[in-house]
Amino acid sequence: MCGIVGVSNHKEAAQVAYLGLFALQHRGEEAVGIATYDFKNVYMTKSRGLVTDAFDEQSLKELKGSVAIGHTRYSTTGSSNSKNIQPFLVTHKSKPLAVAHNGNLTNTEILYQKLEEEGAIFQTTMDSEIIIHLLARTKNGDLKEWFRKVLSQLQGAFSLVFLVGDTIVGARDPQGFRPLCLGRLGEGYILASETSALDLTNAKFVREIEPGEIIFITGGKIESVFFNKTPAKHLSHCIFENVYFARPDSKIFGDTVYEVRKRLGKELAREYPVKADLVMAIPDSGSYAALGYAQELKLPFEIGLIRNHYIGRTFIQPTQFLRDFRVRVKLNPIESVIKGKKIIVVEDSIVRGTTSRSRVEVLRRAGAKEIHMRISCPPIRHPCFYGIDFPDKKELVASNKNVEEIAEFIKVDSLKYLSLEGMLKVMKSPKNFCHACFSGQYPVATPINKSKYLLEGAIRDE
Ligand code: SF4
Repeated sequence: MCGIVGVSNHKEAAQVAYLGLFALQHRGEEAVGIATYDFKNVYMTKSRGLVTDAFDEQSLKELKGSVAIGHTRYSTTGSSNSKNIQPFLVTHKSKPLAVAHNGNLTNTEILYQKLEEEGAIFQTTMDSEIIIHLLARTKNGDLKEWFRKVLSQLQGAFSLVFLVGDTIVGARDPQGFRPLCLGRLGEGYILASETSALDLTNAKFVREIEPGEIIFITGGKIESVFFNKTPAKHLSHCIFENVYFARPDSKIFGDTVYEVRKRLGKELAREYPVKADLVMAIPDSGSYAALGYAQELKLPFEIGLIRNHYIGRTFIQPTQFLRDFRVRVKLNPIESVIKGKKIIVVEDSIVRGTTSRSRVEVLRRAGAKEIHMRISCPPIRHPCFYGIDFPDKKELVASNKNVEEIAEFIKVDSLKYLSLEGMLKVMKSPKNFCHACFSGQYPVATPINKSKYLLEGAIRDE
C-alpha cells in the first residue's frame, strides 16, 4: 500500500506535497520521495523512513517549482531497498517524466518480458517502472492519446500521479481499486490518495477521480479523458480500505470511513450480540466499529487499552520477535476498567492471529473475567494481488484454522466475525466492492507469478 500526491500551480508545491504525504503516512512508512519541476530544472529527494525524517525546512526549499508529485511507500512489489523508492524519474524528450503509483499491476510479468525482449533495461524491481517504459516507447504527439494508449495496456490496481514537464497527470484503474481525489488549492490543484491530505493542506474537495479516468492539470486548467469507462457493476473498490486501511477522517468511494466503520460495528452487534459489562476496542482502528457495536447494544463504551504513540521506526521490523515485542510495548491496559469484568473487545481484523493473542494476554493479566472478541470483517483467508501486502496464505490464521480453532489459539471465551453479507450490506453500493481476501472471488485475473519479488531474479538487495 502507498500514498500518493500531485500538486499543480502552487508556489510552494514541495511544501504542499510534504503536508499531503504527512497526512498519508499511514499508507506507507518504509520510504518517501518528492519530485518537483520549476520549468527549467527537476529536483528530487528520496529517503527511507518517515516523511518527517526525510525532509526539513532546507531540503524542502531546495525542491523548487510549482508542480510536484510525492509518494510514501509500503512495499507490495519489489524489495524494500533504496532503488525502489518512488517517485520514479526519467528524462524523456528533454522533459522530466516521473510517476508515483499506489496499487499492484497484475499483468506485470507479461509486460516486463515483452519490454525486456524489445531491449528495455530496468533500474528497479517495481511494476511501476513498466509504466514509464511503456510511455517512452509509445508515440506521443498528443498527451491525452499518449496516456490513453499506455494505461489501457495495464491490468490490476493502479492509482497514479505523473509529473510530465509542467503538467500533473492523475489516473485510476478501471475497477477503481484504490482511491484518488482532487482538491482545489487557491489557483492550483492537489491530487491525493485520501481526502485527509486535502484537509491538512486546506484544499477544497472537488471530486474523486473516476475509475478509468485520466486527468491532466496544467496551470489552472483541467482536462479529463477516459481510457476505459467501466460500468458501475464492474467496479471493485477495495473494501479493506474501509475496514482498516484508510484514515477514519477520509472520505473514499463516496462515503466517510468513520461512518462506514461505525455501521460495520452496528451490524456486527446485530449479528453477534453478547451480554457483557462493557465494550472496548483495540485502538486505534478498532475504535470506530467498537463505538457502533456499543451504541447498537446500548452498552457502555470504555477505553480499556491506551496506545503509546511514541513508537519509532526502530520497532517496525518484519520479524516475528519484534512484532510480538511491539504489541507489548504499544498497548497498556487500564486495570480499573477491565478487572473482574466481562468484556467485549472489538477488533477491525485478524491477520496472523499472533497480535490478537498477545493483546488478549495483556487483557487477561489486567484481570478480565471473560473476553468476547468481535471482528468487524469476515475472516481473511486469501492473499491480495491488488496492493495490500498480506502475508502468504500459510501465515493467514483463518486460512489454516476455523473460527473455533482461532478462538482457542488467541485464548478468548468467544470469537465472532462479521459475515460477508453483513459487511457488504452497510456499504452504500455493495456491488461495487472487491472482497477477494475474504471470499476468494477475484474480480480481475490474478498474476501468473504471484511473488512480490517477481522482478528480482535470484538477487535480493534488502
Ligand atoms: S483482495 Fe482484499 S485487500 Fe485486496 S483489493 Fe480486494 S478487498 Fe482489498
